[in-house]
Amino acid sequence: MLIILRPDTNVQSQEYQHTLSQLKAIPDVSVRIHTVEGTQQTLTEIYLLGETKKLNKDEIAALPAVERVIRISEEYRILGRHKDENRQNGFVYNGVNFDQSNIHVFAGLCAVDNPKNVETMMRHLQEHGQVCTRMGAYKPRTSPYAFQGHGKECLPYVFDLAGKYGIKVVAMEITHESHIDEIRECLEKTGNPTGVMLQIGTRNTQNFELLKSIGRQQEFPILLKRGFGITLNESLNAAEYLASEGNSKVIFCLRGMKTEAGNPHRNMVDFAHVPVVKRLTRMPVCIDPSHSVGSRESDNDGILDIANVSAQGIIAGANMVLVDFHPDPAHALVDGPQALLLNELPYFLDDIRLCHETWLKRKSLYRKAL
Ligand code: PEP
Ligand code: MN
Repeated sequence: MLIILRPDTNVQSQEYQHTLSQLKAIPDVSVRIHTVEGTQQTLTEIYLLGETKKLNKDEIAALPAVERVIRISEEYRILGRHKDENRQNGFVYNGVNFDQSNIHVFAGLCAVDNPKNVETMMRHLQEHGQVCTRMGAYKPRTSPYAFQGHGKECLPYVFDLAGKYGIKVVAMEITHESHIDEIRECLEKTGNPTGVMLQIGTRNTQNFELLKSIGRQQEFPILLKRGFGITLNESLNAAEYLASEGNSKVIFCLRGMKTEAGNPHRNMVDFAHVPVVKRLTRMPVCIDPSHSVGSRESDNDGILDIANVSAQGIIAGANMVLVDFHPDPAHALVDGPQALLLNELPYFLDDIRLCHETWLKRKSLYRKAL
């Protein structure tokens, strides 16, 4: 059962304390409290887990501070929609609003290699009005002999440079819970010049212990990649692991599925699921065209496959694009063949703008038919 408190309820207030003590007194039920920061207001949601069937919904709705009560029987208890369109979707992090209506581009290096390339990348992003990027420090690799990322050694210059060029959010994959502390400590040491969105890679989508430890911290939002060989339902349940531990600031990322049927693309592009994830859950949805396509092939008109599949996802309502760029792809340490070139950045951004505007127009078109 989900209890939504009145917006901006003060947790010190008598109403709140009274409501909470009443709920905690219910036998065989555990109470979990979630705070959701939105652009306009802070929402507190309380989840009652356990034997909730026999509870009287009206009695709970009558407690002070309670705005409404929703019975949840379906999956994805926290992140799901549950036929309540009024529930907030998305979150604000470090001044950037992520929700199911807007769009952000996280263009950047698949793997951090050296300060020069990080700086060149970030300078270009700033020149083109971008406040987000991707920077891989911890790289999960197929071969143990392949470059594994510079790890915590590169964090100081990545964060310093992000601050220098006005980057507010850096998406960064972590593969072990100790990386959260490394990132937190380095941000503190460098004076918090930027923010970090913790990325969980496709190989770790069902690493439940990792999910639990990332879900237990509420400081950093999370970008969860869809597992490349499991069902959508299984990946959405992985997202729910994060939320059930306390962090519902989760963005779900489609990145293609591993199957020979995807050839000649690296993975089978699955961006038709963008609106499906938005229908089933309140998570903003990201697409990763780079790891989906995996190469710089282009069509007969010179449009890269990466740009074409991005267009497909955005025109269907995607809210974030995670995309590999590199100042010198031939010398990139990871995934150079799929990196876009810096001179392609403004065109790619214009294309994204066009597609997002088209999605908005498509929405109003079909609204007329309702
Ligand atoms: C990445 O984004 O760098 C990455 C390794 O992606 P994935 O986990 O989707 O393979
Ligand atoms: Mn990669």
